Amino acid sequence: MSSELNHILEKAGKGNGLLPEEAVEIFDHASLPEWERVFQTACQLTRRNFGKELIFFAPLYFSNRCVNDCRYCGFRRSNLEIARRVLSEEEFFSEAQSLWDAGHRTVLLIAGEHPHDASAARIASYVGQLRERGLSFFVMLEIAPLPIRDYELLRRAGVKQVLLFQETYDRSVYEQVHDGPKRNYEWRRGAMARALQGGIKRVGLGALLGLGDYREDFLELLRHAWQLRNSCGVFPSTLSFPRLRPAFGVTDFNPPHPVSDDTLRKMMAVTRLALPFTGIVLTTRESPELRDYFLSREIGVTHVSAGSSTQPGGYSLYKEEPEGQFSMLDSRPLAAVAKQVEEMGYTPAF
Ligand code: SF4
Repeated sequence: MSSELNHILEKAGKGNGLLPEEAVEIFDHASLPEWERVFQTACQLTRRNFGKELIFFAPLYFSNRCVNDCRYCGFRRSNLEIARRVLSEEEFFSEAQSLWDAGHRTVLLIAGEHPHDASAARIASYVGQLRERGLSFFVMLEIAPLPIRDYELLRRAGVKQVLLFQETYDRSVYEQVHDGPKRNYEWRRGAMARALQGGIKRVGLGALLGLGDYREDFLELLRHAWQLRNSCGVFPSTLSFPRLRPAFGVTDFNPPHPVSDDTLRKMMAVTRLALPFTGIVLTTRESPELRDYFLSREIGVTHVSAGSSTQPGGYSLYKEEPEGQFSMLDSRPLAAVAKQVEEMGYTPAF
């Protein structure tokens, strides 16, 4: 092992984090024994900083209408194979009630980009009503980038965390796969800083793995996290590493840079070393076997979705339809996943 890599791993072991460039050094130079050391360190840091608590959440899609045409997405505007749905107020609360009844207490509100269907005013009204109806979720939100004043409105309404993924940090790939307002790379990249400026306390970043070169996306994702720290004083609360999945009606797109299970595991472990206090999200895009394996190895995952649907109305209205934003591999209900992780020694938190 080079003395530089040894120095980086010693620094990581002290739990003070790594610079983005140090983190990718691990990818470039670690061999098998060093990777075992990375995984062990990730496990120790996770136990020290997060204990054995695992936070569960579920997405609630309230609209699949979208003005963008992202080539990989089932909601893209050119996809004529899916029924377009915008949940009415009562449908929205029916879905929320179903999640509540299943045991969920953390919900991620999601919608395609649309100036009316997914406006900040509409979402703020719904979030306010959730509490009034006794559905006191911890509310997270994942919609198109907004100006600061809209984030202020959402924070006053009760939104606790906003997530927005850059998809890929490779500008050329970004422009090739996106069409519509989303094509504005800088507006998207600046969104989480605006959310923090608008008073939202917790933000989440991520990269959609498979679009760009994973090493470059990983480096830029960590740099983005440091930019938030330097400009707004906080690191992101969570980082997500969704891998591209097939979507209903999307037959003309294959991930140009697929990411293997092994690389995904390494990215999560190095993230734990680089950002020891940032949560790592693992969703139902991944198979039950892989999710259980990652959790059993304690590489750093802190948040998991379970019992999820990726289409509007998928919990109480249109359960049997396959038309979600993307296909999922883990369709186990929340109770089954919670039981499984309890058997691994985790404490499920809702
Ligand atoms: S990824 Fe988001 S913005 Fe792009 S088409 Fe799908 S829902 Fe719309």
